[in-house]
Amino acid sequence: MAKRDYYEVLGLDKGAEAAAIKKAYRKLALKYHPDRNPDDKEAEEKFKEAAEAYEVLSDEQKRARYDRYGHAGVNANAGGGGFSGGGMTMEDIFQQFGDIFGDGGSPFESFFGGAGRGRSRGAGQKGTNLRIKVALTLEEIATGVTKRIKVRKQVTCDSCNGSGARDAGSVQTCTTCRGGGYVRQVKNTFLGQMQTTVTCPTCGGTGQQVTAKCNKCGGAGTMQGEETLEIEIPGGVEEGMQLSLRGKGNAGPKGGPAGDLLVNIEEKPHDHLQRDGMNLVYELYLNFADAALGTSVEVPTIEGRVKIKVPAGTQSGKIFRLKGKGLPSVQSYGRGDQLIHVNVWTPKKLNDEERTLLEKLRSMDNFNPQPGKSEKGFFEKMKDYFK
Ligand SMILES: [Zn+2]
Ligand SMILES: [Zn+2]
Repeated sequence: MAKRDYYEVLGLDKGAEAAAIKKAYRKLALKYHPDRNPDDKEAEEKFKEAAEAYEVLSDEQKRARYDRYGHAGVNANAGGGGFSGGGMTMEDIFQQFGDIFGDGGSPFESFFGGAGRGRSRGAGQKGTNLRIKVALTLEEIATGVTKRIKVRKQVTCDSCNGSGARDAGSVQTCTTCRGGGYVRQVKNTFLGQMQTTVTCPTCGGTGQQVTAKCNKCGGAGTMQGEETLEIEIPGGVEEGMQLSLRGKGNAGPKGGPAGDLLVNIEEKPHDHLQRDGMNLVYELYLNFADAALGTSVEVPTIEGRVKIKVPAGTQSGKIFRLKGKGLPSVQSYGRGDQLIHVNVWTPKKLNDEERTLLEKLRSMDNFNPQPGKSEKGFFEKMKDYFK
């Protein structure tokens, strides 16, 4: 099924302000909330759809990428995680509610009696996100690449397996929440005063208390470590794009789920080629005689050197196009071209012999510029080649 436009999902215009996005989402979340529509698959889909739209449009960076590349910019399924955005679980959505309804989570948990829905009891807090930069060559961007990267991060303690307890005997049921992981609280929300369930402050939602702490991690459940990750980067990515690998960030304290690894793409400059979106541009310098007589030259491309024919009478500013020799689209269809931009080289210094020859040429009528209809101006050429 084709994905609906995120703005359309929230019933907004493209230029909508952050406050309007939040308001629209809140309205839909209330309308389609699963506690209000039990066993209604369609409502659940609508609920998820709205949450996904909100997740992207409420984040300035993601929104900019979505505006530019559409759905592909935020959830192309690049192996190993893909751009964040798509495939939210109910748990993710309820976590997002902290933002929208205050930190009590969903107001419906107590309102409609669905206690703790979507949150898994027994798990501690989520680990923090980790951010790394990956610099890629144009060659790597052309094909896509798998990078093996060693990342220093918080990992699960191998002594207590994340529980933070010294041994099995030093864990007991939390006395504050009696193992439930949540406590009830009366809160003032935009819907009026109501009772909400919040994560138990004593055990952090695990439902368990540790009586003797693990010697290795001091009870945190995590420790400093490192992991070598294989990060699959799709072809066509651009400087400033961000890939997010779910669950590859820092381990959560006390056995909580790991945060995400956010990979920021950087582009290394290329010796010969310049990037212009999906196209690659090469500046070719020809001597005047070659341009007038015609020649064949070798030019570098992203896949190696290629011989091209320069016809006699080639003007400076001419652009030759090598179809399909550009970069792939990150949306995974189509490929750009390589554009070869001709510059006719003018010698900067002349000796006597050269000067005599050139003065002879200058006196000939045929060497006077005679631009005709076939010589398009600079702007027309740009229009032709960069549209
Ligand atoms: Zn430990
Ligand atoms: Zn507790």
